[in-house]
Amino acid sequence: MKKIDPNLLAIAFTEHDLCTRCGTCAGACPVGAITLDENFFPVLSADACTECGLCARVCPGGRVNFLDLTELTFGHRNPATRFDGHVVATYVGYAGDKQLRRGGAGGGVITALMWDLLQRGLVDGCIVTRIKPQQPWLGEVLIARSREELRASQQSKYIIIPVNEILAAVRDTPGRFAFAGLPCQVHGLRLLCAESPALKEKIRVVIGLFCASSLEPYVAREMLTCRGIKPDQIRGFEFRGGAWPGKIRATLRDGRIKQLHYSNFKDGAINYLTYLFSPPRCQTCIDGAAEFADISVSDAWTRDEFGNYCFESHSKLLARTPRGVEVMKEAIASGALVASDVTANRAYQTHKLHTQKKGLNSPLRVGRLRGAGKIAPLYDRPAPEASAREVLAERMESAIMALGRVRSIRLPLFKFLTSRYGILFVKIRQWRKSRKYRRK
Ligand SMILES: Cc1cc2nc3c(=O)[nH]c(=O)nc-3n(C[C@H](O)[C@H](O)[C@H](O)COP(=O)(O)OP(=O)(O)OC[C@H]3O[C@@H](n4cnc5c(N)ncnc54)[C@H](O)[C@@H]3O)c2cc1C
Ligand code: SF4
Ligand code: SF4
Ligand code: SF4
Repeated sequence: MKKIDPNLLAIAFTEHDLCTRCGTCAGACPVGAITLDENFFPVLSADACTECGLCARVCPGGRVNFLDLTELTFGHRNPATRFDGHVVATYVGYAGDKQLRRGGAGGGVITALMWDLLQRGLVDGCIVTRIKPQQPWLGEVLIARSREELRASQQSKYIIIPVNEILAAVRDTPGRFAFAGLPCQVHGLRLLCAESPALKEKIRVVIGLFCASSLEPYVAREMLTCRGIKPDQIRGFEFRGGAWPGKIRATLRDGRIKQLHYSNFKDGAINYLTYLFSPPRCQTCIDGAAEFADISVSDAWTRDEFGNYCFESHSKLLARTPRGVEVMKEAIASGALVASDVTANRAYQTHKLHTQKKGLNSPLRVGRLRGAGKIAPLYDRPAPEASAREVLAERMESAIMALGRVRSIRLPLFKFLTSRYGILFVKIRQWRKSRKYRRK
C-alpha cells in the first residue's frame, strides 16, 4: 500500500482520539479517498489519495485556531471577551408554527428558520440530521427540501453524526443551502469554505447548536440492552420524546412506547449520559456555543426564583453576523419565529453549568493533559485561572469519564442509575435544586 506523509492527512490517521468525527475530511476529499467506519472514524484508501493535503487543512480535530475562525466568520481578529463568543443580538423564542414548535427539542426554532428560508426561496435545501430509518439507534445527515423532511429532522440526537460528510454531495449539487450543526462541524465547514469559494457561495446560512458533549454512537444500543430490548425490536428512538423537556424512549415495532429512564431528559438521564458516554475529543472541546455560526441556538433553561422553568418549549438564539441578524429579523417579520429581544438582559448570556463544563473544565483538562505530555487539541486560547476547588472538580469529572470508557463498569452502573433504584438519585437532585432556589 502507498505510504502517505501523515502531515498531509486529517488528524484521525495519526491521533485517533483527537478526531471529532465531524466528517469534514470525508466531505472534502476531492477523490473520495476517505470513507467512515461503523463508529464514524475516517478510513483512508491510500491508493486513491493524491496527497493534496486538503483533509489536513480543513480538519478541526487536532488544532482549533479561534482567531483564524474569527477572521473567516466575522472579518476581524478581535478575540471574544465572553464564553458565548461574538454576539450582536440575543433572543428567546419559539416557532410560530405550532407543529414545528411541538416537534422541536426546545422551541423548534432551528426548523422554523430553515422552513422560512425554504418557503421564501432563499435556499434550495437544508443540511440537517435525522434518526436513521433502518437503524433507529443511529443518526444520519441529509439535505432536506420539504416540510416533511424538515419535520423528521427535528429533535436533538445527542449522538455523533458526521454531518460534514454531506459536503461532498453539496459540492456536486447546484443550489443554495442552509446548514445546522455542532460547533466542531461549524469549524470544519468554515475551514473548507475558506478553501473552496464555490462551497462558500452555496452555504447561505450556518446555524450552530450549543454543545456540552456528543455521545458515543453505541449509547442507544446500550440503553436498550439495559432495558432488555434488542435493537431490531425498535422502529424509533428519541432522546427527548413527548412533552418538553422530553424523555428518552424507544418505539417498538408493535407501536408500544418504552421509556428508557424514569426521570425526564433534564432531571437525570442527560447527566449520566454525558459522564459515561462522552467521547475523548468532546472531553477536551472548548467551543460550547458554536461561536462561528451565523446564528447559535441553545435550550432556554432559565429558572425563576422558585426553580421553575421560565421558558418551556423555548430556545435561546444568538445572532452573530449581519446575515444571522437579517435571517432572524425576517423570520420574526414573517411570523415563522416568535421571539423577544433579550440582548440587554445579562441573565441570558450564559448557562452556568454549561459555561463551567466547556469554559473552565475542558480548558483545564487540555492544559493538564498537554502539561503531562499527553495528547489534547491545540488551541490559541489560554486556560483560565482556576481555584484549587475548580482544579479538583475537573479531576473528579475526568475520573468519572475515564470509568465511563470501560464497558464492564459503564454498563452495570448505567443499568442501576436508569432503573427504579435510580429514582432516588433523581429525587435527591431535585431536592438539592429546590433548596438552592429557596436559599436565593
Ligand atoms: C450533541 C448535542 C449537544 C447539545 N448540547 C447542548 C447544551 O449543552 N446546551 C444547550 O443549551 N443546548 C444543547 N444542544 C442543543 C439543544 O439540544 C437543541 O438542539 C437546540 O436548542 C435546538 O432546538 P430546536 O427545538 O430549536 O431545534 P429543532 O427544531 O428540534 O431542530 C434540531 C436541529 O438540530 C440538528 N441536530 C440534531 N442532532 C444533531 C447532531 N447530533 N448533530 C448535528 N445536528 C443535529 C437537527 O438536524 C435539526 O436541524 C445540544 C444538541 C446536540 C445535538
Ligand atoms: S486526496 Fe487529499 S484530501 Fe483526499 S485523503 Fe489524500 S490528502 Fe486527503
Ligand atoms: S476532519 Fe473531522 S472526521 Fe476527519 S479527522 Fe478531522 S476531526 Fe476527524
Ligand atoms: S463537544 Fe465539541 S467535539 Fe464534541 S460534538 Fe460537541 S462540538 Fe463536537
